[in-house]
Amino acid sequence: MPVKNADSALEKNIATRFDDYPVCPDADLWTYYTPQATTFKLWSPVAEEAVVKLYEKGEGGMPLEVYSFEQKNGGLWEIEVPYNLSGIYYTYQVKTEGRWLEETPGIYARAVGVNGKRAMVIDLAATNPPGWENDRGPLVEHPNDIILYELHIRDLTIHPHSGSSHPGKYAGLTEKGTRNRDGLATGFDHIRELGVTHIHLLPAFDYCSVDESKPGEPQYNWGYDPQNYNVPEGSYATDPFNAEVRVKEFKQMVKAVHDEGLGVIMDVVYNHTGFTDEADFNLEVPGYYYRQTNDGNWSDASGCGNETASERAMVRKFIIESCKHWVREYHIDGFRFDLMAIHDIETMNLLTEELKKINPSIVVYGEGWTAGGSPLPDSHKALKANTKKLKQVAAFSDDLRDAVKGSVFDEKSRGFVSGATGVEEKIKFGVAGCTDHPQLDFGWINFSQGGWAAEPWQSVSYVSCHDNHTLYDKLKLSCKGAREEEIKKMHMLANGIVLTSQGIPFLHAGVELMRSKGGEHNSYNLPDSVNRIDWNLKTKNRDVFTWYKELIALRKAHPAFRMPDAGLLARHLVFTVTEAGLVGFQLKDHANGDSWKNILVFYNARKKAVRVPAKGEWSVAVKGDRISPEGFEKVQDETEIPPLSMLMLFQEQVL
Ligand code: CA
Repeated sequence: MPVKNADSALEKNIATRFDDYPVCPDADLWTYYTPQATTFKLWSPVAEEAVVKLYEKGEGGMPLEVYSFEQKNGGLWEIEVPYNLSGIYYTYQVKTEGRWLEETPGIYARAVGVNGKRAMVIDLAATNPPGWENDRGPLVEHPNDIILYELHIRDLTIHPHSGSSHPGKYAGLTEKGTRNRDGLATGFDHIRELGVTHIHLLPAFDYCSVDESKPGEPQYNWGYDPQNYNVPEGSYATDPFNAEVRVKEFKQMVKAVHDEGLGVIMDVVYNHTGFTDEADFNLEVPGYYYRQTNDGNWSDASGCGNETASERAMVRKFIIESCKHWVREYHIDGFRFDLMAIHDIETMNLLTEELKKINPSIVVYGEGWTAGGSPLPDSHKALKANTKKLKQVAAFSDDLRDAVKGSVFDEKSRGFVSGATGVEEKIKFGVAGCTDHPQLDFGWINFSQGGWAAEPWQSVSYVSCHDNHTLYDKLKLSCKGAREEEIKKMHMLANGIVLTSQGIPFLHAGVELMRSKGGEHNSYNLPDSVNRIDWNLKTKNRDVFTWYKELIALRKAHPAFRMPDAGLLARHLVFTVTEAGLVGFQLKDHANGDSWKNILVFYNARKKAVRVPAKGEWSVAVKGDRISPEGFEKVQDETEIPPLSMLMLFQEQVL
């Protein structure tokens, strides 16, 4: 793994005293366990002394033993303890500038006790569920073949009508046979019924905002406050006190998802830590892992009090090693990078290169923006605008999101489906996977000369996620007075666009049930009553669910909707209609090997039916709330598209 310091151009911009620290980018810093001995390692070039303290438990009690680390080259410290330490908890403590810092489980901890204060020596092989050696996630040829379902573990099963026996836990996520009061599938069965391919988990690494020692108290957080990056979060485990339990239950969850042919993506938050001064990073090498402002304060591009410095060798190494750990140890199928633009392009490229070597089916995508200013120059940030330099990384298309339903920053703002006009070109841009399609007028899109994605799979198509209002709430708030039936039609058209666009489709869990958070736009620490998926909605909005399910099946059956490269897309995608509130396109000549020769798609955002041209004879696959993969009627030369809806026609062969 060629990890090195950032290139010279970057160093000139943000060179710091930290770049002079000796480093050991090739060292293996994981704790090494055998029944005979355990080797502890620590990188701390500023340490004057360092110790490892052994404990019986994950909290409380006096140390059983204290061992002094031995200093090696490159800032490395190491100590081998010649006993079987399996199940023993430990901390590191570093002395620098004559002062002992607080104890830390160490940034390379792979198992921790309650609230992540102490690490535990663990025989990881002993935590594998039966059949783990043959466990594989789904094969992914092109990232836009997958369909993402963004889910908070607790939200899925915490509603009293979820039918779950393990509400809010890893074990609940994969429980089968759960039903709502009307006998309809909930939880994992529901996800399987829907047909998405990958479950994208909101933070499931150890975070600090939920007190794991109080499992009986209702507590809620999304988890964007990392504590131990290489350990599963304890509050989702049935026993957060025993370090082994969360490791085992996380693996069992992944195995159960894989057994059904689905993948597991992790939302990762390497861009900042939940704590700052007392963060594990700062208890090993104060300051090194973070960017600073010119006056020496913590720089804060995350808006959460700090930002990490991926361009520094040992930070870059940490992020890459950490992701590799999740792939190797937990068989994770991909990563969603929070505030990805805080990271530098080189780190993201090295990371994906390394991960693809382990598993070519890994999918990596992220938020191509920051939440505040950063000393990292824009040219080095993994920004959406730099996606063409990110070889194997996709970025969220906020262009499509806002064009479809209005800005997330103004609740009254409307988009295409809710009556805004002048955004049609942006809808087309989304359909084209944010690539340089020759028919697009970029003056109307982003004032640039072209798309930001080199290939269509580099854009993540979405209209809603955990952030901001749910799609349903957004439409209700921005279309005051609209009838429920109209909201429903707008809602279906919105994700109809997502599921017929060429990027990676991304659905916020529960959107297929018209999930509401009661109008809350930032529910990160709000109670279950706001965040949970209400399974009664499945009964109430069964027609909407069925429509999503059938449209997902249609996308999966038709490769024309997921062309692998921009060249193919430019040849096979032709826009046919662009009017206020009306967009139409054709996918022609068996695009991407599709069994259908030609496909015509129209999005009608107007409140009235529109006649659209369709030269020749066509079968109707989607019209209003009806979907039929075989076609439920034929039309000749022209047809009508109902108000606020999507129409899809196809020709198997032209006679
Ligand atoms: Ca935690």
